Amino acid sequence: MSVEFGPSPRLRIYSSPALYGRLFANLLTRNAASDDDVCRLECEVQRLMGARHAIAMPMARTGIYLAVKYSIKPGQKVILSPYTIADVINMVICAGGRPVFADIDRESCNINVRAVLNLLDDETGAVLVTHFYGQMADIQPILAACKARNIPVIEDAAQACGARLNGRAAGTLAKAGVLSFGMYKNINSFFGGMIVTDSDELAAAIRTEIADWPLQSSVALAKKALSGLITDTITWPPVFKTLSFRLFRWAFLHDVSVINNLLKIDVDPKLKSALPESYRCRMLPAQARLILRQLPLLDQHTRARVDAARLYHAGLSDLKDLIIAPLRTDGTHIYAYYPIQHADRECLVAHAMKHGRDIAMSYHRNCASLPCFREYALPCPNAQATADSLVYLPTYPRYGKAEVGKTIAVIRSYFQK
Ligand SMILES: *Cc1c(COP(=O)(O)O)cnc(C)c1O
Repeated sequence: MSVEFGPSPRLRIYSSPALYGRLFANLLTRNAASDDDVCRLECEVQRLMGARHAIAMPMARTGIYLAVKYSIKPGQKVILSPYTIADVINMVICAGGRPVFADIDRESCNINVRAVLNLLDDETGAVLVTHFYGQMADIQPILAACKARNIPVIEDAAQACGARLNGRAAGTLAKAGVLSFGMYKNINSFFGGMIVTDSDELAAAIRTEIADWPLQSSVALAKKALSGLITDTITWPPVFKTLSFRLFRWAFLHDVSVINNLLKIDVDPKLKSALPESYRCRMLPAQARLILRQLPLLDQHTRARVDAARLYHAGLSDLKDLIIAPLRTDGTHIYAYYPIQHADRECLVAHAMKHGRDIAMSYHRNCASLPCFREYALPCPNAQATADSLVYLPTYPRYGKAEVGKTIAVIRSYFQK
């Protein structure tokens, strides 16, 4: 089968020419002196999520650092999933915690409840529950067991902004929750995040700590936005379908790591034992304005993602050699991607690329086996198998049903060979 015209890209960031225009105009005119828009954003998030406090963060990871720091005593254990970005582990370490990995479930990619309950002990300072790929973890039994032992639970909802369980927003079920507005998330301010909590004490401690932090560097933000503009150019359909896809496909099929690594995040994770200076800053009003404009679109975008997931689920659920994401249409899954797992994923992705579909292997790793975290290593066979077999399928709203259908057809053709 020859490819005349390529596919839509595996990912597109949430942006528009107007968004770049506003951001650069704001940065250039230094229209950033007042904190009012950051306060406005915090109030809006409080209202939308039904939380007592929302505190803007420069990144979600800074929020994880602060939430852990003010929830534990130094040296205590923090139980968490190893299937996440390495910096989440680093933030626990920087906050004075000792990461203890609990294995995940293959189907949900989220922490396994039994594994958590078995690890709870008198040295446990907190449990960090991550809602991965937009799917809310099975948090209720963890909340109940931790409540009985007076152990705080923190939610990493960086990938699940907009998900709800019985009407309650992801991030508001536990003592504190963290959202991300990073460049690849479903609300994008290039850098950014939020802590939400109902605890007056925790909110006051965090506000006190960040009061004298500097504002996010405009230069660093402008650099990040420029990298976004480059990504947007490469993934702009007329460019992607004619040029970029051919280049990425060639690089993937010929194992050209210089190009392949451009598409990866977190290529060479390192242990961090002190919070980097660049993480210690406050959100700029210009960023808050970008987020305020995107919040009203969140539910509409989530519905489009769930629609894509419905199609993937219907189209792939009979394939025996795949583990696929469950279908959840009750709001508890926002499908940041539609993750599927296959033992020979290289072969599956190569087949898809050869047949003109742009899909990718996940770069997420089992942090419990990363060399940089060897002092915390624990066997987590499910996280390892997931890290070795996961492929994510696009669900972003602009991808569209026709592209989902073509991706399903090519995956099916792989298994019919
Ligand atoms: C993206 C992400 C983070 C970090 O978000 P930042 O805003 O980039 O700090 C943390 N946890 C998970 C699960 C993520 O996907």
